[in-house]
Amino acid sequence: MSRRQKIAILGATGSVGRQALEVISVFTDRFEVVGLAANENASEMAELVKKHNPRLVAMASTRAADQLRNLLDDDDRVEIIAGPDSLIDLACDAEVEIVLAAVVGRAGLPPTYAAVQAGKTIALANKESLVMAGELVMKEAQTRQVAILPVDSEHAAAHQLLASVERDQVKKIVITASGGPFFGRARQDLSRVSAQQALAHPKWDMGAKISIDSATMMNKGFEVIEARWLFDLAPEQISVLIHPQSLIHALLETIDGSVVCQMAAPDMRGPIAYALGYPNRLNLPQRLNNFDPLDLFQMSQISFHQAKERDYPALSLCREALEQGGGAAAALSVADEVVVAAFLEGRIGFNEITDILKGTMDRFQNAPISSIADVLQAGEQGASLATALVNESKQS
Ligand code: NDP
Repeated sequence: MSRRQKIAILGATGSVGRQALEVISVFTDRFEVVGLAANENASEMAELVKKHNPRLVAMASTRAADQLRNLLDDDDRVEIIAGPDSLIDLACDAEVEIVLAAVVGRAGLPPTYAAVQAGKTIALANKESLVMAGELVMKEAQTRQVAILPVDSEHAAAHQLLASVERDQVKKIVITASGGPFFGRARQDLSRVSAQQALAHPKWDMGAKISIDSATMMNKGFEVIEARWLFDLAPEQISVLIHPQSLIHALLETIDGSVVCQMAAPDMRGPIAYALGYPNRLNLPQRLNNFDPLDLFQMSQISFHQAKERDYPALSLCREALEQGGGAAAALSVADEVVVAAFLEGRIGFNEITDILKGTMDRFQNAPISSIADVLQAGEQGASLATALVNESKQS
């Protein structure tokens, strides 16, 4: 048996983290869980510790770390570290070889960047790391010769497609979007939709933040930015196509007009396994009882629709941030966290999400970025501008 690869999972209690652990638990001959990290969900973490026996656990919340200690027995031999920096310590632990970065939001950036600096292989779900600091993260990865393997399904698809074509023969990459729960509905009809309706994604079962981002198409805009840095493509080489069935995840057009696509059932365990197993493939259908590979005979209909930026202001906001450079995308990303949280709390309406983001970016004072500290500062400016606009909206 070949040596097992040692993995740390940041965001272990989340949707991606839990699905990754499900994959790992049927490939224990290939992987060993060394560390797990989360924010505040001590009870879920206690269950994960009992099941996967990590040596090290990091909880960003010190209160949650105390709760976790109380939930575990002496038999559970695990070291628990706490505080936001504990995720950095865990990601850089000498024993760890692969870091699955699956924290949601800006909190994922510092440990992901530290893991790159420490030379770890990165399986990247935390798209915010590349949206906010793509240039810095990719430059550091290149210097350290670190592989960043995408977990996002569209980017995992594009990664597979790009491997088959010489770079100077690539015309463009197309990433698909399901269109989310409100596909086909006019923007003016969405002002009163509830958080529950917006969370009900037709194809993917995901965490709350990315589900709302999928409903506004902010997620797709972020994915354009992510693809720009991950694959070093010009922004105009990346386009978005709505494909409600979510069976084709990305397409690649070559300079001779040929189009190749990657297809798979909409199940995140596929791209997670792709990133963890790379450059090998893991035999999921053989090992996972409930994994259904794509069945082309069941595909009664497959359709494509243009993603018009006029209908989806989120796409334009992301393109503009990419064009502006500096800290614009970081500000937009963190502002989006603030605004999505306000929507989920019922403080603003659905259409206000992108209206407030537009207001935020109109007021944002951009500056060049040369460090992660600059990126986080731009993010903070985005957050405070968005917070002020949310508060104004509440008062009106
Ligand atoms: P979830 O909301 O389900 O989980 C988020 C995870 O991050 C939880 O483990 C949470 O811990 C942890 N976390 C949140 N805040 C902090 C913090 N401040 N410090 C440390 N840990 C924190 O998110 P998802 O799994 O849906 O998404 C994770 C990332 O993957 C996002 O960037 C998303 O865009 C990306 N992604 C997700 C996909 C999906 O299918 N879900 C698909 C493609 C990409 P706790 O539970 O303790 O709060």
